[in-house]
Formats: sequence, C-alpha cells, structure tokens
Amino acid sequence: MVPGIHRPAAVYVNLAAIKHNLKEEQKQLKPGQKLFAVIKANAYGHGAVKVAQAAIEVGVDGFCVAILDEALELRQAGIKAPILVLGVTPTQYVSLAVSHDISLTVPDLAWLKEANKELTGEDNELKIHLAVDSGMGRIGFSEDQDFLAANDFLLDNHHFNVEGMYTHFASADSSDDSYFTKQVECFNHFKGLLKLKPKWIHADNTAASQFHQQVESDIVRFGIGTYGLNPSSNPASQDLPVRFKLEPALSFESELVQVHTVHKNQGISYGSTYVTDSDQIIGTVPVGYADGFIRKFQGFTVKVGDEYCPIIGRICMDQLMVRLPHEMPVGTKVILISNNPQAPNDIKAAADYVDTIHYEVACLLDDRLPRIYYEK
Ligand SMILES: *Cc1c(COP(=O)(O)O)cnc(C)c1O
Repeated sequence: MVPGIHRPAAVYVNLAAIKHNLKEEQKQLKPGQKLFAVIKANAYGHGAVKVAQAAIEVGVDGFCVAILDEALELRQAGIKAPILVLGVTPTQYVSLAVSHDISLTVPDLAWLKEANKELTGEDNELKIHLAVDSGMGRIGFSEDQDFLAANDFLLDNHHFNVEGMYTHFASADSSDDSYFTKQVECFNHFKGLLKLKPKWIHADNTAASQFHQQVESDIVRFGIGTYGLNPSSNPASQDLPVRFKLEPALSFESELVQVHTVHKNQGISYGSTYVTDSDQIIGTVPVGYADGFIRKFQGFTVKVGDEYCPIIGRICMDQLMVRLPHEMPVGTKVILISNNPQAPNDIKAAADYVDTIHYEVACLLDDRLPRIYYEK
C-alpha cells in the first residue's frame, strides 16, 4: 500500500506521550523487573520503528512483537535490544531467528522437536520462552506431561537457550478477578513443574501491571499503556483506575476538501441513507473505510475547525461527508479521532461507537495514512 502523502490525511503520533507513558511505567516497576514494550501490529498502528526508537531513548529493556517479520523489521532498523515473538513461528524459520538474535515462543513439545531438527551446527542456539496456556486457550503448554517432557528434552539439548516462561491473561482488565485468580494458580502450578531455570518468568500485560500488583512477573509486557490507553476501556465494563496519568499518543486528522450547499430533500452518499430536511452545508473529507475508518462510523461526531459535526450518509471507500453548522473554508482541519481523552471523539468514544475496543480502532488505521511524528 502506498502512503497517501499528497492528500491531507494522516495519523499523528506524539512520541513525547509514548515516552511519558513508558517512563511512568518504569517508576512502577519492582526491583529487578524489566519493561518490554509490546509493539506488535506496527505498534498498534502507531509505527513500530519510531515507537521502538522512542522506547530505547527512555531505556526500555526489550520488545515483544507478534510475528517474526515484525522482529526482523526492528533489527533492520538497528534495534539491538531483546525481542520476543509472541506468536507461533513456523519451525522452518528458526535459523532466521537465531541469526538475528530473536527469541521465539514455544507452544508445545511437538514444535520444540521440529525446531530442533532445523538447528543443526554447533553454535546454532535459539533463545526461547515457554508459553503456558493458563486459560486463554490460545497457545502454550496446558498438560503437565507435555510440559515435563519438554523440560526433559531441553535438559539434554544444547540448541536452545531457555530465556523465559510466560503466560497471558484473558481478563486482567476486569473488576471481577475470579478467572484471573484461576489463571495465576494454573501458572504457579506450571512454575512448580519446572526443571529448568529460565531467566525471566513473566505474566504481566498492561492490565495486570496496573490492576494486579501482587502477581510476580520478571517482565512487564506493556502494550496498550505504551500508547496512553487504559486497558480496561471496553464498552462492557467501567474503566478501572490506572496508577498514573496515561497520555494518548494518537490522533487521526484530515481537512475539508470541498464545502458546498446541498438543497432540501437531497440524499447524501450511497443508498441515500441520509436525506437533507433543509438546505445544508456539507463538507467532504478525503478519508473512508479503505483507511480503516469503517462504515459503522456513520453518525459519529468529529471535530471540524472548532465545531463538533456529525458524519452523515454512508462512509465511502475514500471519502465521507459531514454536516457543517456554517460555511467553513476548504482546508479546515478535521479531527476524526482526538488524542484528548475528554473529547467526544477520543479513541475510546470512537471504539464504543462502533462496538469494539480502542486496540482495534488503532490497528485498523491503514498504511495509506502516513504516520507523522512530533513531540509535545
Ligand atoms: C498483546 C499482548 C500483550 C500486551 O497486551 P496489552 O493489553 O496491550 O498490554 C502482552 N502479552 C501478550 C502475550 C500479548 O499477546
């Protein structure tokens, strides 16, 4: 996808906010605890390389990504810090991980045995973290036998450096901690089975580090908090209080490219789902669902100049229309998603409006939107 640099639409990312969030989280760390910024999916849409560089400036200890390619992107950009791939990497690529000093997740014994076949040669040593499925049902060991056999397998094998063991919580962001507690117990059980001594045993995501300080975790895998967003912000539950002020880093901005008066009884956009009930001033904004601003945003309120205006009619692939309260010049700024958490069009309000979570709204913003970085 070619970024649209000749159109007035972009995702703006405040790197000062990202650094602030990371520095505040560093202050919360327990002695010896490490901070890994989770920058999978292009840093939740914020741009992985720039976010990584900002994170290095404030001294984070490492990074987590979802897939091997994301780790390679960071290495190519000159990032030397530890990088853990959280997803399952096909074993045919383990040598590539070794040659770039990238740590991989082990989901089960079968993966380990297949990976071993690829690691011929004396100094072919793969750094691994054993994943434990304590209740996500996603990846990791869930049977004692398999886990014990993997420990035995690793004890007399020199192709693996067991750096870590970890689990992931399904509901660390919920005020009801019964399922969370069950997961902690399950993870503790697996810790008890260990025959090896991994350097880092870790469980914390942003939510666990914010809301469950009692849990032991040698690494905090800090994702959504890096971007200044409260992990508990989902429509189904009330926000839990975070331990410091998070600063949202991302805004999505464009401009009016046309302003014109549409007469009474005229339809706006495909299907004429909106029909003017009077003469109205319509502004056209050159972004649409192809940018990841999905059709469900029809009716959402965005900021045009100093006014909040509704999106009317269906959102097109590349354009959308807003109803203006008065004439405004072409070139007037349009803030589709604000980085001000109090604004009616902040990312949480946007996510609520389309029945999803802010993680998804940020990730959906497409590569056609250039990322513009600033510090303020
Ligand atoms: C995405 C992810 C994280 C980060 O979660 P946040 O809620 O964004 O802090 C941590 N660990 C794993 C395994 C993940 O997949």
